Amino acid sequence: NMSSPALLMRVVASAYSVAEKAATIVRNVMSAGDLGIVEKAGPNDLQTKADRLVQMSICASLARKFPKVTIIGEEELPTDDVTEDLIEDGHCEEILKKPCPAQYTGIKEEELVIWVDPLDGTKEYTEGLLDHVTVLIGIAYGGKAIAGVINQPYYNYEAGANAVLGRTIWGVLGMGAFGFQLTEVPAGKHIVITTRSHSNALVNECISALNPDHVIRVGGAGNKVIQLIEGKASAYVFASPGCKKWDTCAPEAILHAVGGKITDIRGNSFQYNKEVKHMNSAGVLATLRNYDYYASRIPNTVKESLVP
Ligand code: AMP
Ligand code: MG
Ligand code: MG
Repeated sequence: NMSSPALLMRVVASAYSVAEKAATIVRNVMSAGDLGIVEKAGPNDLQTKADRLVQMSICASLARKFPKVTIIGEEELPTDDVTEDLIEDGHCEEILKKPCPAQYTGIKEEELVIWVDPLDGTKEYTEGLLDHVTVLIGIAYGGKAIAGVINQPYYNYEAGANAVLGRTIWGVLGMGAFGFQLTEVPAGKHIVITTRSHSNALVNECISALNPDHVIRVGGAGNKVIQLIEGKASAYVFASPGCKKWDTCAPEAILHAVGGKITDIRGNSFQYNKEVKHMNSAGVLATLRNYDYYASRIPNTVKESLVP
């Protein structure tokens, strides 16, 4: 049916609006001042009221519209009994107007898996490093990340009162990615971007072996991939377990949509089918360009220390 948009485009168009609602919740919880911080695995694994409300908002809103889609969110919370004020029913009209890539027009609800990180960079959110924070909605089909939405609720927050606060980046494989200016790091410059709050000896050993010109340490998997596609960093390198499927699904789809590449430190691609293990145990290696330059310089000792 030519007049009815394909399911994938309807899901992406809804996820766009759901992510904007999520960003409003993230900002409102911060301005209200009570973050309601809970430790999950330990002091470097936090959950706030924003993580909880946004998880419920995204999962319940998408489940209501697409009841047969599998939705996997980071936070373990009930999705029934979500209050109406958390439900977002809208969609982005502009996305709905775009043609779905031919290979995805026949996708059925039962075949999609949506990976949700309601608030990526929670540690940094609690420390006031607000532009590190993103909301991640990744869409997988056949075990592959094929579409994603990244909202950055505090984009521009240091640019003054006249700047528009927040932005939404989205992309679909075979279509491209939108909502930002694709930029490459100047040729020959090697800037590595990595964790700020989850470093360890192996993480640092791996970065040293790459002999970069500069290292950027910031929070968030979403934030780091944004910096790759905006030409601020050349490689996202994280030689440690800790990052999960909901951290990488949306960023992967957007990065791959613009010709980049993300794998674990050993070069294995990530799988996103609903049965998959959540932990990316063998770390993360991502680039917009020159993936092989970095992959070929990861020491074997580092690779052997990380078991997928
Ligand atoms: P980071 O680069 O430290 O912001 O990590 C990217 C994502 O992986 C965030 O969602 C972190 O919470 C998560 N992550 C990475 N390492 C760990 C860890 N050791 N414990 C818990 N979460 C982690
Ligand atoms: Mg995260
Ligand atoms: Mg999170």
